[in-house]
Amino acid sequence: MSLRAYGMVIIDHKPDKLVSVFNPRHSLNHMLASPISISNVIEFGACKVMTQIAVIGGGPGGVSCAIWLKRLGVDPVLYERGSIGGQLHDITLPIPDLPGEPRIEARDLINRLKQHLYEWNIPVFEGWEAVEYRREHRLLIFQNAREKDYPFLAYAPGLKVRKLNIPGQEWIATESTSQILQISHQDPVLVVGGGDRAFEAAIRLAQADQPVILLHRREGFRARPDFQNRLFKLRIPIRVNAQLQSLERTSSGLKAKIKDKEGISAIAVSAVMIRIGMEPDIEPGLCPMPQSDVVPLWPENHIRCLGDAVSPVAFRSIVSAYASGMAAAKELVMNIKNSTFSG
Ligand SMILES: Cc1cc2nc3c(=O)[nH]c(=O)nc-3n(C[C@H](O)[C@H](O)[C@H](O)COP(=O)(O)OP(=O)(O)OC[C@H]3O[C@@H](n4cnc5c(N)ncnc54)[C@H](O)[C@@H]3O)c2cc1C
Repeated sequence: MSLRAYGMVIIDHKPDKLVSVFNPRHSLNHMLASPISISNVIEFGACKVMTQIAVIGGGPGGVSCAIWLKRLGVDPVLYERGSIGGQLHDITLPIPDLPGEPRIEARDLINRLKQHLYEWNIPVFEGWEAVEYRREHRLLIFQNAREKDYPFLAYAPGLKVRKLNIPGQEWIATESTSQILQISHQDPVLVVGGGDRAFEAAIRLAQADQPVILLHRREGFRARPDFQNRLFKLRIPIRVNAQLQSLERTSSGLKAKIKDKEGISAIAVSAVMIRIGMEPDIEPGLCPMPQSDVVPLWPENHIRCLGDAVSPVAFRSIVSAYASGMAAAKELVMNIKNSTFSG
């Protein structure tokens, strides 16, 4: 388990109660113009609110939410079960569509997000997975058996990889594209899927002169147009309207059975990568009834689910996760204002 504090706030494995202050008499716009710091509040002298907000998930959505909460005068604590960045860790090609940052590399963006958290003194716990929220006691439980009292939660869990349940699924590669690239292959790598992840994997393999076949169960692809153009330019073989039925490991290697309109055929493959999309990684024990982040939940909700996990597929992106984090932070701050916590 790793633990890091990017901010000036030094925290140990069981953080002390962090107390943030907030003046409920001020409007949100006022707070935006002038975030209230702890020293300001002593000057204000009234209306203290003891508020702690846990932000769960350190992808773009969670990071944005934490920064906005801080900007609005509430102290967030960010928990991430892996390391800060979320899906950005899976992006290996330059990001073409982040406004103001043409062709930024994902690793540079991750470093900038970490730096931003650091500059805003936001405590970050990496390697901490939240597993349950006991609403009645406002208790957040972590996989490492720690518990922490949080009256408000911002939940930004992102997505998890969709699995393919077929006979022989134990032979499906669990490695990343980078790891698969380190081995040289005689037989083609079979990449299954029709979206960005499948295309990105196939393109990277082909660019490294690895034999690759793309298999998709439909005719049309979800992958963005520039990925499709690149795939066609690289002349990567594609099988559409075809489904992977099973995998079998024989003495001569791995065999993939594929069904298409001509029937069932078997081909020798060196590895099979399943990239058939992602689904929300919402843990029911944390957020039993997630609602779309376009539905305002205030004034009485204590949990706000945000980012890719609650965005329609077509709208999932870094900028929409940023925006969703901002909206969640503002909404939670309004909820705090309207809650019984205000003094
Ligand atoms: C290959 C690929 C290429 C992409 N290319 C682009 C692109 O070019 N442009 C673009 O705009 N978008 C792109 N995206 C999409 C973009 O990365 C996502 O839309 C964005 O990362 C979503 O942010 P998020 O914070 O909602 O979720 P995520 O980035 O998925 O982050 C969620 C985080 O929450 C953590 N978490 C989950 N549950 C828990 C828990 N219980 N406790 C603690 N931590 C938890 C996860 O470990 C994860 O780090 C791409 C995605 C992929 C996979």
